[in-house]
Amino acid sequence: MIEPAESFWLDGSLVPSTTGTHLLTHTLHTGFGVFEGIRCYRLDDGSVRMFRGRDHMRRLLESGAALGLEVPYDLEQLVAGGAEAVRVNKLTDAYLRPLVYSGEPNVIFAHWLNTTHVAMLAFGWTGYSDRDRSAGTTATISPYPRPAALASFYKAKACGHYVLSVAAYGDARRRGYGQAIFCDENGLVAESTGENVFAVIGDIVCTPPPARPILMGITRDTVLTIARDDLGLEAAERDLTIDDLYEADEVFTTGTASELLHVPEIDGHKIGTGTLGPVTSAIQERFTALSRGRTPDTRGWLDIEIQGGEGI
Ligand code: PMP
Repeated sequence: MIEPAESFWLDGSLVPSTTGTHLLTHTLHTGFGVFEGIRCYRLDDGSVRMFRGRDHMRRLLESGAALGLEVPYDLEQLVAGGAEAVRVNKLTDAYLRPLVYSGEPNVIFAHWLNTTHVAMLAFGWTGYSDRDRSAGTTATISPYPRPAALASFYKAKACGHYVLSVAAYGDARRRGYGQAIFCDENGLVAESTGENVFAVIGDIVCTPPPARPILMGITRDTVLTIARDDLGLEAAERDLTIDDLYEADEVFTTGTASELLHVPEIDGHKIGTGTLGPVTSAIQERFTALSRGRTPDTRGWLDIEIQGGEGI
C-alpha cells in the first residue's frame, strides 16, 4: 500500500488528495485512459530531480494520440504540473503517476463528448532495498498470452491494458511466483506484467524487439544505452523463446518502479547460477550512479529539477 501525498495536480490546480470523481466516469468503466510512472530521485547534493521526465511525458502524449484521446496540455505544461505535484508535497524520493482520463458520467462509447482531464499524483517511494534487490523475483510464464500486436495499442500505456497484467500477476502470486512473463501469440517472449524482460546470453544483453507486443520502456532504453555505451557490452533487440530464458546466464526485468530486478528462477528452472549475475549487477550499479547524480549526467537524463541542492 502507498500513502498518497496531501494534494495532487488536477487540470492546472492543486486539489486535496481526497478530491473524487464521479463513479460513472468513462475511463473507470472502459479503461479508455492513459498514464505514466516517473521516478524522482534525491541526489547526493540534496537536490531532487525527475529521471527522464520529458521522455515519460512525451510517451504520455503519444499514448493519448494512439488512442485518439487528446491530452489538453503540451509537453512543458505536463512537466511543470508533474514537478509541482512533487514539490508542493515536499517529496524527495518519489513516484509520480500522471493520469489522463476521459471524465464526465457517460456510459456510451463517444469519448469525444467527455472532457479529458489530467491528474498528477505523487507519493513517496524509495524503491527496493538492497536485500530485496539481491533476492530478485521468481517468475512464471503467464498462461494468458499478450494479445496479437494487431489487436491492441500495445505501444500505448493505456489503462485497459492492465486488466491482463493484474490477472496474470494475481495468477503468478497464487501459484507462488513473484512475477509473470507474457509471451505473444507465437510463443515468443514479450514482457512481464509491468516491466520489460532482458536475458544475458553469453556476452550479449538481449531483449525482445519493438515488433513484439511490448511497451517501449524508458528503463529498457536506459539499460540498452548503458550496456552499449558505458559498459562496452554487446546489446541486441532480438526475439527470445522461453527456452532462451531458461538457458540464459542471467535474466532481469526493467521498469521505472523496480529499476533492474534479476530473475533467479522461472517455473522452477534455475537461471544461470540462480544468484544476482555480474552483468545485471554492473548495469544496476551504473544506473544507480546516474540516477543519483554520482556520475556526470552527460545525456541530460536528470532533466527536471524539482528542488535545488544545498550542497554536500
Ligand atoms: N511494460 C509494461 C507493460 C509497463 O507497464 C512498464 C512500466 N511502465 C514497462 C514495460 C517498463 O517501462 P518503463 O521502463 O518506461 O517504466
